[in-house]
Amino acid sequence: MIEIRDLHKSFGPLEVLKGVDLTVEHGQVMVIIGPSGSGKTTLLRCFNLLEIPDKGSLALNTIKLDFTPGAKIPQRTVLSLRQQTGMVFQSYNLFPHMTAIGNVMEGQVTVQKRSKEEARSKALALLDKVGLADKAEVYPHQLSGGQQQRVAIARAMAVEPEVLLFDEPTSALDPELVGEVLKVIKQLAREGMTMVIVTHEMKFAADVADRIILMDNGVILEQGTPQQVLEQTKNPRALQFLNRLS
Ligand code: ADP
Repeated sequence: MIEIRDLHKSFGPLEVLKGVDLTVEHGQVMVIIGPSGSGKTTLLRCFNLLEIPDKGSLALNTIKLDFTPGAKIPQRTVLSLRQQTGMVFQSYNLFPHMTAIGNVMEGQVTVQKRSKEEARSKALALLDKVGLADKAEVYPHQLSGGQQQRVAIARAMAVEPEVLLFDEPTSALDPELVGEVLKVIKQLAREGMTMVIVTHEMKFAADVADRIILMDNGVILEQGTPQQVLEQTKNPRALQFLNRLS
């Protein structure tokens, strides 16, 4: 469903992605781990063109893009890619002036041109799914971080993306709120949602991932099943990273 080949991205003189290849199958959960600064977030942001790669290619279903430095990507391609990729950010990024249900309705009305009634009923069903039906009319500042993140997940789901992208979805949360967010993500995984997740939560990664990618210094060091990457790797740098965590 997603195919990335030889992806490169620099910020000025700093080369952050140095030729990344990966494939995500339909229904698969891919988890990206690795040391801070290794390029995980940048890679994830390339999936929906929040960062434009300098070189390489990206395909999502029928959308195929080849990148060359300085080349302009047509706006309608960017939009159509973004419609197929729902993003959940570390810091939730909810619209502060809209209620929970307003947040979940917004994209449906503006991007998908659904009627308000239809958007409202879908938003309610999604809030119910993430356990927040009773908070529909509440504003983000009245919600805990874990609740805000669950609204953000409902919002990302509302436009029916092909794939959900999570950028360290629990790292801004107090430890006692991490579980409720991970539980929602695990439920989506069980339902067959295709997801790419950047996380530092190793136990969660081992639980939820079909494939794990371990990045280091802009390249993929190891990829495979959780068992292959977390337990069987012989790569010294991968072992160094994993040992530091345990
Ligand atoms: P990770 O998610 O693995 O911690 P990132 O992808 O966030 O890594 O960052 C990789 C490197 O790229 C870091 O050195 C970071 O400072 C740098 N970087 C990320 N985004 C930008 C940006 N917009 N401008 C300049 N440097 C950036």
